[in-house]
Amino acid sequence: MASLFTRIIRREIPAEIVYEDEHCLAFRDIAPVAPVHVLIVPKTEVAGVADLGAEGDHQHLLFAARSVAEKLGLKDGYRLVINQGDAAGQTVPHLHMHLLAGRPLSWPPG
Ligand code: AMP
Repeated sequence: MASLFTRIIRREIPAEIVYEDEHCLAFRDIAPVAPVHVLIVPKTEVAGVADLGAEGDHQHLLFAARSVAEKLGLKDGYRLVINQGDAAGQTVPHLHMHLLAGRPLSWPPG
């Protein structure tokens, strides 16, 4: 069965899309934890970092993240986060990168 994010990529489920290229789709998180909270998702479905092969759309994630940041004018900075597995709080088993911005982001993260 297709993942939730694959269904968004296929436009079967609505989302506020902010960026798309051949390899990745980026859309606003439905439950934002920062004024800017975008998910960047490789179009090829892979459950998470632990399941990655050497090749694939995931290799393009960082470039897509930079493109999203430029498009949204995030000149002051932003944070990129990937949650892997239950202990990190991963809830959707389709690899995705969170892009967070628009408020001070403390370190270490919770
Ligand atoms: P993670 O906890 O790292 O797996 O992140 C999953 C993220 O997906 C969470 O921040 C959710 O708020 C977000 N999310 C879940 N369903 C949707 C949806 N339909 N559209 C946009 N974001 C979603």
